Amino acid sequence: MIDVSGMNYFWKVFDLLCKDQEPDQECWGSLFATPGYSVLTKSEFSPEFFMEKWRLAFQPNRREERKKALDKGDPFLKHYFAVLENKEELKAYQERVLKEEGLLSRAKELALKYLPSGSYPGYPPVSLVVFQFDARGYNPVVIDLLAALKMQEVLIPFLAHEFHHYYRNKTRKQLAGPEHLLWVIDQIHAEGTADLLDKGPRIKEGDPQIGTYKQLVEDAPEYLKFLNDRLLEMGKDKEKVLAEEKILREKLPQSGHPVGYHMAELIRIEFGIEKIRSEVSDPLAFFWSFHQAEIKAGLSRTLTPEAIKILESLLQPNNF
Ligand SMILES: [Zn+2]
Repeated sequence: MIDVSGMNYFWKVFDLLCKDQEPDQECWGSLFATPGYSVLTKSEFSPEFFMEKWRLAFQPNRREERKKALDKGDPFLKHYFAVLENKEELKAYQERVLKEEGLLSRAKELALKYLPSGSYPGYPPVSLVVFQFDARGYNPVVIDLLAALKMQEVLIPFLAHEFHHYYRNKTRKQLAGPEHLLWVIDQIHAEGTADLLDKGPRIKEGDPQIGTYKQLVEDAPEYLKFLNDRLLEMGKDKEKVLAEEKILREKLPQSGHPVGYHMAELIRIEFGIEKIRSEVSDPLAFFWSFHQAEIKAGLSRTLTPEAIKILESLLQPNNF
């Protein structure tokens, strides 16, 4: 069952703001206590962020200020303004999506394609909210209502991508090590594997909207060579780890999606789906498999065994 409690409170706040009224503390508090908004405001957004952006987007007396912000291209405001313009359609869609049979089961079935066989009872919790044109694989998985409406037929693979994160997070091998390096390696593995579900088919269909991503996938070997060189430097001198790992994080395109997809897709082609499934909870195994896949495919090697061994020595419990 999809949780729409966040949306129900959102519309209350929305209606008041559209009348130039300010919701009381209880109203805001109830909204931010719903599962979807609670997880978002405990991770990447503050309640004040939403409160201020929504006031600006929805209150008629903020028209001038809104126009200026929209002219400057504020992406959040643009999104909330689109919610205002599509409110009737969104409300109807919210009702419809709740009744839609099989949305969650189809997404789960697809997510399981790249997970080890086993039992996955029930569904990841899913909450509909308004936040940005996107979704997040938190617990609960949060999906933006406008994004869900506009995505239509790609909603299932999109949801499957987030479900994949949810199940992977439950079984992921816990590694300890330098914070940024750990993030880079885990992001590459997690996003690359999940992108096989939603980005892969779109690349193969030649979806023009995914052009930038496709280009970044093609450029992935450059980043991997860079990663390899940085790892070798870290291996020579442990004092350099902090500086090097920060650069690796800063230079990682799109939080690891395209680089990870490039790696996962090559492993899939060379060794099959089963390989990806068996290594879903182990990022280091994924890096080794990619190295072997490059050899098998006869490609020039971007990742050397020396560099992966350094990675292994850095990402071990109690080693840093
Ligand atoms: Zn993801």
